Amino acid sequence: MDIQVGDVLQMKKTHPCGGKNWLVLRVGMDFRLRCLTCGREMMILCGKAEKSVKKVLPRTDGEDSK
Ligand SMILES: [Zn+2]
Repeated sequence: MDIQVGDVLQMKKTHPCGGKNWLVLRVGMDFRLRCLTCGREMMILCGKAEKSVKKVLPRTDGEDSK
């Protein structure tokens, strides 16, 4: 799975806040993700992340979500 910083991931499990989409802040040995709904950040091991990611949402140029 090709995941890059700036990608938005849709996870299989929903966050307790109800959010499903996570912004990738860092990739490497582990991923740092920020929940786009509540803004909370979490680290997840690379191998584990790939299993829990449902899909990578298409990137959009610029931020039009205001
Ligand atoms: Zn959340």
